[in-house]
Amino acid sequence: MPLRKLVAGNWKMHGLSSDLDEIRAIAARAREYPNVDVALCVPATLIDRAARAAPGFPIGGQDVHFAEKGAFTGCASAFMLRDAGASLTIVGHSERREAQRESDADVRAKAEAALSARLDVILCVGESLEVRDRGGAVETVIAQLGKSLPQELLSGAELAVAYEPIWAIGTGKIPTNAEIAEMHGAIRGDLIDRYGPDGREIRILYGGSVNPSNAAEIFSVADVDGALVGGASLEAADFIPIVAAAAS
Ligand code: PEP
Repeated sequence: MPLRKLVAGNWKMHGLSSDLDEIRAIAARAREYPNVDVALCVPATLIDRAARAAPGFPIGGQDVHFAEKGAFTGCASAFMLRDAGASLTIVGHSERREAQRESDADVRAKAEAALSARLDVILCVGESLEVRDRGGAVETVIAQLGKSLPQELLSGAELAVAYEPIWAIGTGKIPTNAEIAEMHGAIRGDLIDRYGPDGREIRILYGGSVNPSNAAEIFSVADVDGALVGGASLEAADFIPIVAAAAS
């Protein structure tokens, strides 16, 4: 039985008050596809206003600190995101793993903190082009999962995994269907090994240059339970056709 699809937008460092109308438009048009879960992960500064602008529509953050509070200048905790109106968060995005030097252990701690705060989590993994070219993609991603997945699944919040090949993010390049199928199949096997039958219910999203033209084909691949979408999530005109592809 295929899992219900989740299409989440990652707005990265984009989004001002002037973009709230776009969020309203995305939320309104997403309601036309009730068989798909849709969410937008916006900058922390916009969570509160986005949640108020689109009541009932899932708004998420893009990172959390692992601690609940404390002397961590510039950071926001999972409880703070929830308090601002978020219902989910991304953790372990490759842009943070690279630029902020986040380790797998950091990502695990963030995922566990977010789930404890009842935020749904999208945990990102993915290989570099160099690793893909030398044939180590599956091994690398499974090793990342081994060290960054939460130790246990907590009820009350949902974990999803996003496979995001680093070389496909924002580049217009995407893996072949066979490469996506191989990776998602390996991730599914690992989730079942780790969590037992619950591992079958964890959605595995594909992320990296998803757009209205390639979404339907990507969603047709086995074990692709949705998408994490960057650039094409900024405007309803691009994002909603991707949601529509997930619905059909
Ligand atoms: C992302 O950054 O998570 C992403 C998938 O970006 P893009 O869709 O722009 O490749």
